[in-house]
Amino acid sequence: MDFHVMTLFPEMILSGLKESITGRAEEKGYISFDVVNIRDYSADNKHHKVDDYTYGGGAGMLMQAQPIYDCYKSIEERILEKGNKKPRVIYVTPQGSVFNQGIAADLAKEDDLVFLCGHYEGVDERVLETIVTDYISIGDYVLTGGELPAMVMIDAISRLVKGVLNNEESAMTESFANNLLEYPQYSRPEEWMGMKVPPILLSGDHKKVDEWRLEQSILRTKERRPDLYEKYILENPPKPEKKKRRRKA
Ligand code: SAM
Repeated sequence: MDFHVMTLFPEMILSGLKESITGRAEEKGYISFDVVNIRDYSADNKHHKVDDYTYGGGAGMLMQAQPIYDCYKSIEERILEKGNKKPRVIYVTPQGSVFNQGIAADLAKEDDLVFLCGHYEGVDERVLETIVTDYISIGDYVLTGGELPAMVMIDAISRLVKGVLNNEESAMTESFANNLLEYPQYSRPEEWMGMKVPPILLSGDHKKVDEWRLEQSILRTKERRPDLYEKYILENPPKPEKKKRRRKA
């Protein structure tokens, strides 16, 4: 998966994503980061200006259409030259659909993804209408820029790209798989501050451990995320209890 990011703050994106798991995945070639400074496409060679006042008045500056469009076209050209299809272009915005694991899984199927990070008051609507395919938010609050949302999405999507996680199983059993939150987990020592690890986890009985974990996942989801629990129950209705046969007198 090749991630392409259009931003005014490339260092911010690279310093975050070149670390830890995403950094190692890039070194090993499972993912790549093509982070492009929109300022490099400014028509103003002297000051590299990319923003201006909004028509109709109002506080703050708006990112102009042309530098973003030219920046996008340079990325698109590189993608098409590789022989790949026209990419999905995500504008990270508080006005988009709220990001979740399902959207991450859908986006993880692509070969290339292009992210546009807004700043200031946002972006001229005309360039959004011209290049954007998906409007995605990371939650109902307003941030100063799109860099953190793009990093959040790239991190979550990367984890679902084959090879990025060492243990393929971990993405399958983690929170949100099958509409459940993950079960509680414990590491050494067996007893810490008077609290013991649940004995079933030390039993070596894998079937019983799996049953306990599923039960804990269900309980935790019901308590913390009733909205998810409802979806889980709809897809996994509880089995009706077997009626006890009455003995003939
Ligand atoms: N004026 C815009 C509005 O009211 O919808 C908000 C602009 S915000 C200050 C600047 C940029 O930060 C946006 O263009 C967007 O790229 C990014 N941003 C802010 N909050 C976000 C969120 N919750 N999810 C995704 N991107 C966000």
